[in-house]
Amino acid sequence: MTTVYDLSLDELTERLASWGEPAFRARQIYAQLWRRAATYEQMSEISSVLQERLAAELPLGVTVLTERSADKGATRKALLQLGGGKHIVEVVLMGYADRVTVCISSQVGCAMGCGFCATGQMGLMANLSAGEIAAQVVWARREASALPDTTPRRLTNVVFMGMGEPLANYARVSAAITKLTDPDGFKLGARHITVSTVGLVPGIRKITEHHPQVGLAVSFHAATDELRDELVPVNKKYPLDKLEAAMADWRKRTGRRASIEWAMIDATNDSDEQAGKLAEIAYRLGAHVNLIPLNPTPGWPTQPSPRDRIKTFARILKAGGVNVTIRDTRGKEIDAACGQLRLSHDAAL
Ligand code: SAH
Ligand code: SF4
Repeated sequence: MTTVYDLSLDELTERLASWGEPAFRARQIYAQLWRRAATYEQMSEISSVLQERLAAELPLGVTVLTERSADKGATRKALLQLGGGKHIVEVVLMGYADRVTVCISSQVGCAMGCGFCATGQMGLMANLSAGEIAAQVVWARREASALPDTTPRRLTNVVFMGMGEPLANYARVSAAITKLTDPDGFKLGARHITVSTVGLVPGIRKITEHHPQVGLAVSFHAATDELRDELVPVNKKYPLDKLEAAMADWRKRTGRRASIEWAMIDATNDSDEQAGKLAEIAYRLGAHVNLIPLNPTPGWPTQPSPRDRIKTFARILKAGGVNVTIRDTRGKEIDAACGQLRLSHDAAL
């Protein structure tokens, strides 16, 4: 089913013209939908007849199935039903003192097969359309105003770190970025969008070319091919030297620092040796490293590394001249990690 967020301004104008509505009406509705994140019922300047026709023929296509909050309301996680019903994904809204970030999904499930990841354990169920991807961000803009006043209450950042591998759904993710940065529409700065990838080299090259202002995060989890082949199967296709070369070109072209994501997995990838090898790669790339304590999933019973191990690992990186942060586990009590809410929802059915 086509939702209104799948249409460009021209397409919406055409559709409304076929209903006998003038072009200014389409512009007005488009701005309301994207800029203000308004629902049709909130558009008091259009007639209720038109509101109803829009809702029936060009629905927003976003239904909240469940919503949970943590961190005194500053973290909210929702299970959204998109595009007329079949696609269910998770979205996490995180309010900080200086920014509000939404973590969105690009696919239902994921085909990349990383064993420790709840989304990977589902396999790939569907690619989301550009409108379905963008609609999650519009939802977040609407919700941000309801966050506590310890936050700016205004959506500032978007990260593709929910379900799915964004660069495996490149054309639609790219179209969604274009919609979100449209100066006549949502008007988000491309620098406030970050794509997280497992390391699909052709996708990194495409995004470098088409969206050089978008930030890049790459999920490494291992700094030797031997270990990475095991943890991140796609490494067999795009091994570390190819990945590093694509990231080096990205840095050269954009002048920006990439992030390297690293889930800290007990007695698996948390050795001094891995830290030393990672330090060399990250230093060469001028990349920032994010250490994320593993969130244990039912399909992969390994534990996160102990706190002291994570600190030692971080110290080795720092000694190697690398910027490192230990990611706070936001919304831990509501399972705010990759793919988790969807799994618990399925289990409850
Ligand atoms: N497919 C993309 C983006 C979605 S995953 C990617 O892999 O980068 C978002 C982040 O969550 C990735 O860094 C991923 O490695 C991490 N992640 C997945 N499962 C996790 C788990 N169980 N514990 C901690 N981090 C996890
Ligand atoms: Fe897919 Fe990312 Fe999960 Fe790997 S970590 S299975 S790429 S969502």
